[in-house]
Amino acid sequence: MSFSYKNHSLHVESVDIADLMDDYGSPLYVYSRSDVENNWREFDSAFGTHPHLVCYAVKANSNLAVLNVLAKIGAGFDIVSLGELERVLAAGGDASKCVFSGVAKTEYEIKRGLEAGIRCFNVESSSEMSRIGEVAQSLNMQAPVSVRVNPNVDAKTHPYISTGLKENKFGVDIDDAIELYQLAHNSKSLKVVGLDCHIGSQITDVSPFLDALDKVIELINKLKDNGIEIAHLDLGGGVGIKYDDEQTIDISAYINEIMNRTGNLEIILEPGRAVVGNAGVFITKVEFLKQNSDKSFAIIDGAMNDLLRPAFYNAYHQVLPVNENSNGVDASWDLVGPICETGDFLAKDRKLSLSQGDYLAIMSAGAYGFTMSSNYNSRPRVAEVMVDGVQHYLIRERETIKDLFKQEYIIND
Ligand SMILES: *Cc1c(COP(=O)(O)O)cnc(C)c1O
Repeated sequence: MSFSYKNHSLHVESVDIADLMDDYGSPLYVYSRSDVENNWREFDSAFGTHPHLVCYAVKANSNLAVLNVLAKIGAGFDIVSLGELERVLAAGGDASKCVFSGVAKTEYEIKRGLEAGIRCFNVESSSEMSRIGEVAQSLNMQAPVSVRVNPNVDAKTHPYISTGLKENKFGVDIDDAIELYQLAHNSKSLKVVGLDCHIGSQITDVSPFLDALDKVIELINKLKDNGIEIAHLDLGGGVGIKYDDEQTIDISAYINEIMNRTGNLEIILEPGRAVVGNAGVFITKVEFLKQNSDKSFAIIDGAMNDLLRPAFYNAYHQVLPVNENSNGVDASWDLVGPICETGDFLAKDRKLSLSQGDYLAIMSAGAYGFTMSSNYNSRPRVAEVMVDGVQHYLIRERETIKDLFKQEYIIND
């Protein structure tokens, strides 16, 4: 972890966050390059020489600089849209290390994926399989495909980020998968390369992963009996991180377990949150303190449009003062933003000593932070900075007010 206090001021690697706020303004996302790299390497190195590819899930944080540092250390990428594919290519990523997931790939997305030479499409339905076959045929190409199966296991996570149950929209029912594989196997424009599953996100117990693994291994054996061999097994992402005091998964023990059960089969993983979540923070300033007989509100300049997770999932983020010694008003504060929604909070009931103008670090904000941000209430999206040792780099400019409506027109009549 590269976030720690030095001289009572919170630092990212060797850079004082207070200095970053002077340089770049508030609110601000700040990422640690070494944390991003080390988190990805933890997955990669656990495999040793076993055939594998760790495909970072771009949707967790798709900033070009983040993708670029990962591309430079050999990462593959899990993409879910044309936009993500183009980001990976623009960031110097290798298309042949990209797996394309998502339930509704358009014809154009498939075409562009094929032309770019992606590693495989993770197919989520028979109609999608047909569409991929047709596009490949029209280009005289063969599309590499992998079926995303739904192993029907309960990931025991928030219902919005649970994807491996029968009632979810994702993947193909594991009992129907063989038929779909046969269809692909018999098509000249499709090439079966893998099997894929992804059961959810922020999973903090290894048992649902191992249950899913057992089910897909059973399917791999059935496929073999039907003359269909796959070259890789993609077990998706979903490894949870520590936001508060949750127990998390021992990544190398999990990967060892996978290797023990799958022989020499190449393994693909698609971690997103586990690579960037704890590698980033969101910094916001206290604008006003507002106390009544029941409640103490700290009104901050960051809001749900900047960091949606608390409002959307009731997610918990640790809050640390940038200046550890700030002594203001001691209370149990709700941190609320300027947006006209009661759900606009970033944290509730936090014992902090606050004064107007203090900076607060909302921790573990590197994943599903900036990527889920919006312009709601016509708020420009904030700047992003990456720290590398003693250096810091602007990796996304703060949007301007003009940016907000530059694509809009008034009608003249
Ligand atoms: C979101 C997603 C991931 C990444 O999930 P994390 O919980 O961030 O690791 C991986 N694969 C697929 C298909 C996804 O939709």
